[in-house]
Formats: sequence, structure tokens, C-alpha cells
Amino acid sequence: MNYVLSPWDVPSVPVAGSTDHFPVRHIYCVGRNYAEHTKEMGGDTREPPFFFTKAADAIVPVPAGTQGTMHYPLATRNLHHELELVVAIGHPGVRLPVERANDVVFGYAVGLDMTRRDLQNDMREKKRPWDIGKSFAEAAPIAPIHPVASTGLLTRGAIVLTVNGQVRQQGDLSDMIWDVPSMLAFLSQMYELLPGDLVFTGTPAGVGPVVAGDQLNGSIEGLTPLSLRIAPPLE
Ligand code: MN
Repeated sequence: MNYVLSPWDVPSVPVAGSTDHFPVRHIYCVGRNYAEHTKEMGGDTREPPFFFTKAADAIVPVPAGTQGTMHYPLATRNLHHELELVVAIGHPGVRLPVERANDVVFGYAVGLDMTRRDLQNDMREKKRPWDIGKSFAEAAPIAPIHPVASTGLLTRGAIVLTVNGQVRQQGDLSDMIWDVPSMLAFLSQMYELLPGDLVFTGTPAGVGPVVAGDQLNGSIEGLTPLSLRIAPPLE
């Protein structure tokens, strides 16, 4: 096949413990999935989960033992961190019952749902789409994906983010309002889950701003941690 432009590389994430990569198709994100974060955002913890998306090329893959870099993005003065468990999908699935939803999981990773909070809040107030607040260049830094075959199903474990060595976010995966199979079951009512999809599963309380020069370290028990430096904006 001839392309009229040189095709770009498929966005991908390293797979832990191998030289293989996981190709990224869609990125789905769950909003307000930890009670304390839902309260800090002014939401109701009894509502069903809701979803938004990021472009696949927003991925910033950060290999084990390295430090990733994200440029401070355009058009914001309030870039926020949201540390999240990311679920990688390895098999197709549609209208999944909760009890079979874990069957489509390939593995898990530590990720950051970076957010232009000022733009997101502005759009929310105007009842416009959130896209400009959530989907932008380098908005989805992610550490290597661990196959579920090696981790087992992740249902609990500490999730912690430090900024410049200070703890900003701290929680446990078991604090999720909608656990992973429940959210996959919901999501698969609206979209066919496909191999290569990533699902960011929501963030614990403590979201806040970062600036150029800040060092973020995210960890989830049992997974490769994520190290990210915020670089000055692109000129
Ligand atoms: Mn989030």
C-alpha cells in the first residue's frame, strides 16, 4: 500500500520483563472512581461510572529504570496529576457480564491521567465536551505493562504519588467505587473493547498542580513505578 504521508509508529507501551511492546488502540478513562476524589471534585459517589477518552498518541511510554519527560502543555496554567491503575485489554469483548469481564484483561500498568484542570473546569461549567482538558500531547505517561499471567488479578494494593518527594496522592486499589470488572462491563455496553485498548481506572484523592521542573513518582504495589519530569513548554 502507498501512503500519501510517511506513516508514524503505532503508539506502544513496553511489556515488563520482555522486549515486547503493547500496541495502543483506544484510551478510555473513568471519571471519579474513588470516593474521596469524587468528593473533592464535587461529585456524587452513587452514580454509575462515566467515561472520556484520550488520543492514543498522547501516550508517553516510560521504560523501567528510566525517567520520562512530559513538556508543560499549551494553553493551561493549571496542569494536574491524576495517578491511576491502567488496565490493558488483550481480547475483544462486548456487553460483558461482570463475572466474565476480567477475561479480556492483558495486564496492568501505572499511568498518569494528566489534566489541564482550568480548561476541563471551564468546559464543564459551559456544558461543553472535556476533550481539551484531557486529551492533548503527552497527556498519558505510562510505565511498562505487567501481564496478568504474572501479577494475578489486581484488586488491592497501595497507590501513591509523590511530587518532589512529597506525598500528594495516596490510596488503595480496593477503594475504587467501581472495580475493574464492573467498569469493563459498563464500558463494553457502549464500545466493543478491542486488543490494544487501555483503560485508566480513576484517581485517588489529592490531585493538584505541577509546574516545569517538578519530579513525579507514581507507584502501585506489584507494578513497575513511573518516574516523570515536567519539562518547560515547547517553544
Ligand atoms: Mn482521571
